[in-house]
Amino acid sequence: MNKLNELSITEAAQKLQAGEITAVDLVRACVAEIEREKPVGKCDRLNAYLEVFTDVEEQARLSDERRALSPTKGKESPLLGIPLAIKDNILMEGRKVSAASKILEGYVATYDATVIKKLKAAGAIFLGRTNMDEFALGGSTENSAFGPTRNPHDETRVAGGTSGGSAAAVAAHMALGALGSDTGGSVRNPASFCGVVGLKPTYGAVSRSGLIAAVSSFDQIGPLTKTVADAELLFNTIRGHDPLDSTSVREETYHKRNATKKIAVPKILNASRELFDVEGVGKKFKETGRMLVERGYKFIPDIDLPSLEPALAAYYIINFAEVSSNLARFDGVRYGLSLKGNSLLDDYAKSRGEGFGPEVRRRIMLGTYVLSAGYYDAYYAKAVAAREQLRREYEKAFEDVDVILTPTMPTSAWTIGEKSDPLSMYLADAFTVPANLTGNPAISIPVKRERNELPIGMQLTAAHGDEAALFTVGKDIEVVE
Ligand code: GLN
Repeated sequence: MNKLNELSITEAAQKLQAGEITAVDLVRACVAEIEREKPVGKCDRLNAYLEVFTDVEEQARLSDERRALSPTKGKESPLLGIPLAIKDNILMEGRKVSAASKILEGYVATYDATVIKKLKAAGAIFLGRTNMDEFALGGSTENSAFGPTRNPHDETRVAGGTSGGSAAAVAAHMALGALGSDTGGSVRNPASFCGVVGLKPTYGAVSRSGLIAAVSSFDQIGPLTKTVADAELLFNTIRGHDPLDSTSVREETYHKRNATKKIAVPKILNASRELFDVEGVGKKFKETGRMLVERGYKFIPDIDLPSLEPALAAYYIINFAEVSSNLARFDGVRYGLSLKGNSLLDDYAKSRGEGFGPEVRRRIMLGTYVLSAGYYDAYYAKAVAAREQLRREYEKAFEDVDVILTPTMPTSAWTIGEKSDPLSMYLADAFTVPANLTGNPAISIPVKRERNELPIGMQLTAAHGDEAALFTVGKDIEVVE
């Protein structure tokens, strides 16, 4: 039998319900794995966690009690007693939260994010908060103020980002599942690099209340799990309209689509072969396509989505703009780090100058620039127009197909320090950012690799509100492999 921490959520839930194991057993197995070979001053060997909560056993004991008292023995709550890891930008009342930034030093959340309230109601256990790129800006977790997270498959490499801590924790069996957030790929990218499943829900499907905002019009909280079924379970628990998030949507908003069993591949993928590792990722992409055809899917090659071309540029302009505005609230007065200068302006400059890392400062400056009176029309307005055009093209494409298939990332995980040029890191987001621009749901599914090869994932994107299609096709990729 697998060690308990190696179980999927679904498997562990069955054992808990059958009374074969307790939540305390599960938590102890995860904590033992977290503490194995941990260096001094860190929570674990990969730097996946920024904090492991000291009350985890207590949470587990309460969960076992809740099960014992339940007339159904908790059968209706598959998450009862399941230990999860939470990205460090999701608020949990009474606990520290830092978005991996020095500027939030010492800050303690005053309320629970809606997703946390829902998970608490479902009986989940919170193991700790996980490392990430500062304020979810980056693609490798190297922008954390607390050092990079290492990839469990090769510790000289990055775990991906920005939810790198969450992905590494799940892949290394230091948690049964995790939550991350995805602004331009931050759930799917580390899922691909670490070999786990990562879902970015439809924009508005999951409440953003209590998520530290990076880019409010892109951000979505999503699960990172070992299996597609687990991602589905977590998604169904955290989804739903929330009066605290005016951009959240009701489930009935999108009518149910009938499956066509058609899968599209964008034309641009063929045209941009130099962008990705054709031998590794490209080869696996073709194989996945062939296997899906064997499973009865019809392929529509070369669908024309012309606005994919400016998508990356549009994404970054909007990202910078919204980041510069969202991060204005960290002024050295209201939250966390507060440094004193000679005047109020000086206090701001000092606190922000020392509290924010280089990538965050870069984005605030560029964002202020693209929103300034002289440049707004030249950059921001054009990016917003391109985004709307892409959204229309996607809407049209999904009239005819269930999902669009692409690789998640152009390559497997790079080595720590390899992409020191920020632009080269931005380029790696070419396949993930379109779903954030358009609000469509997308999932990264790991595909099987040889023992000595690094993990990679394939990405499926579906119509708004059609996560069901992602799970159906996702399970087929998972089973085929
Ligand atoms: N890599 C992208 C960026 O740097 C996406 C980040 C994210 O999804 N949070 O903006």
